[in-house]
Amino acid sequence: MKNFGLDIWSNNNFIIEDGQLKLNYKSMPSLLQIIEEIRSNDSKGPILLRFPHLIKKQIQTLYSHFDKAMEENNYNGTFNAVFPLKVNQFPFAVEAVTAQGSKYNYGLEAGSKAELILAMSKTPSGAHITVNGFKDKEMISLGFIAAHSGHKITITIEGLGELETIIQVARECTLKVPNIGIRVRLHSAGSGIWAKSGGMDAKFGLTSTEIIEAVKLLNEENLLQHLSMVHFHIGSQMSDIAPLKRALREAGNIYAELKKMGATSLSSINIGGGLAVEYDQHIHSSTRNYSIDEFSSSVIFLLGEIMNAKNVPHPDIFTESGRFIVASHAVLIAPVLELFTHDYQEQLLNFKKKNPPLLEELIELNKLLNNKNCIEYLHDALDHMESLLTLFDLGYIDLQDRSNAEILVHNIIKKSLYLTSLNPTNELEQLQVRLQERYLINASIFQSLPDYWGLGQHFPIMPLHHLDSTPIRAASLWDITCDSDGEIGFKPERPLYLHDVNLDEEDYFLGFFNVGAYQETLGMSHNLFTHPSEYTVHINDVNYEIKNENQSKNILDILESIGYNKDEILNKLKLDLSNSQFITEKEKNDTLSNLEMLVKQDGYLRTTL
Ligand SMILES: *Cc1c(COP(=O)(O)O)cnc(C)c1O
Repeated sequence: MKNFGLDIWSNNNFIIEDGQLKLNYKSMPSLLQIIEEIRSNDSKGPILLRFPHLIKKQIQTLYSHFDKAMEENNYNGTFNAVFPLKVNQFPFAVEAVTAQGSKYNYGLEAGSKAELILAMSKTPSGAHITVNGFKDKEMISLGFIAAHSGHKITITIEGLGELETIIQVARECTLKVPNIGIRVRLHSAGSGIWAKSGGMDAKFGLTSTEIIEAVKLLNEENLLQHLSMVHFHIGSQMSDIAPLKRALREAGNIYAELKKMGATSLSSINIGGGLAVEYDQHIHSSTRNYSIDEFSSSVIFLLGEIMNAKNVPHPDIFTESGRFIVASHAVLIAPVLELFTHDYQEQLLNFKKKNPPLLEELIELNKLLNNKNCIEYLHDALDHMESLLTLFDLGYIDLQDRSNAEILVHNIIKKSLYLTSLNPTNELEQLQVRLQERYLINASIFQSLPDYWGLGQHFPIMPLHHLDSTPIRAASLWDITCDSDGEIGFKPERPLYLHDVNLDEEDYFLGFFNVGAYQETLGMSHNLFTHPSEYTVHINDVNYEIKNENQSKNILDILESIGYNKDEILNKLKLDLSNSQFITEKEKNDTLSNLEMLVKQDGYLRTTL
């Protein structure tokens, strides 16, 4: 996998050119160039880059596919989308979403009071707000306030209790009543590791009996004219389209039945999120079995068919896809700090004028190793190594000969592993696991890839440079937390090969892709490593512009964010130091200002070039 699966996961967003990874857009800057520019301003830790053009691309893709499907199927409803804030609430991500979505009237979805407040302040006028999740009276009152302030807001009820609260608030005030949606509890469940949102045992939604009860209640209270939406969400990262089709049939029929029961204002079906993103770098384990084309056509075709059969006008369609919209826009870039088993480097070979015959043979094997002979040569090399070690024990060869032999055999194994990486034998797989190189990365997996830690979700990983040479080191990645879970291990069935680099001479950067959905908000400050410094990169026809710099929190601010008094901490450190003995006043002052500088940096390591 010389191109690191780029053709599988990158959706043509990146290309390899001149050995570097570049953005496949307009002036096509290389990621390395962008990172070097940022690092020249003293930012040495991990860096999160946002690319708004990739959000624009996803929004465009979503809208254009649904428009096309509607046209092809003579579908009469409209298509509307909202961005679920829980997927990424970070200011510059939300700003990119609303800016890129404004011409489509792309709205926001909120699942909590804080998200609702955010949605009310950031939704462009004319765009929709949908509200899901569990709600108390305050949250429902906020919905009324939003409606009264002019927002096109729909509050989806997750249970009858919430409907009763809406009725209560409507009785108590004269504010505008928001649109009301009903989340239906489907008997058909989703697929994939996040699919706990659908099905009979789902956490959310009304059963058919409760739906009938809800319509009755709304009718009695004279609020039925506010019931506008049927909603479902079958879970994130749907791997298979079949459960969606079952859910559409079910929800479509519920919609049609409700219309017949007199819900005349009912006008839309909200299909939630769940549209999957390709995270895999290896074709055999790729994650979804459908395209956006099939997804949009299925939704439109099935709903059109149900409505036509029941003689009900086509509903407007809402989607709440989040992952699909923002996953690709953010890339985490981490410098490699160290390679742990760097002792078997070819440049450390030191041959004599006359070497022992077995060593000469190893030199030949190393030179002549190729695709066809590698298994045989590897066996020879392992066999020679055995004999050379015996010769050493018996005093026939010296330490330099032994060192040369070890480096050569190591090299032969590495090369054979690489040459057979597409089709490894059992024996080689075991060698591989034993000989993997550990790359220490200046980042925290807990902070930046929490779904890897919590769910084993794989993210595409590749170096930003050296892409014109063959990576031969089976790699596992260690982060800088003091936690053995902070490791992305090497797996023979999903290998990651990286380059052999001398970090004393050059930097080596790894990119972690598709991290724009969920990772930032779920990230946790284990060991007090915080959100990495972030930058938004706008690419134009001739160049690019770096905007919205947001530096990682400094150490004092991190401590303050969990409740410490930062002044008290700094004063204590300074007092202790001032009370110590110094030979000169200058050294004391220098040390004090050094201390002050240290606590005002972020907590990531600063040891790369
Ligand atoms: C989480 C969530 C979404 C977003 O799902 P994605 O898989 O990220 O598209 C949409 N709607 C609801 C109700 C959700 O809870």
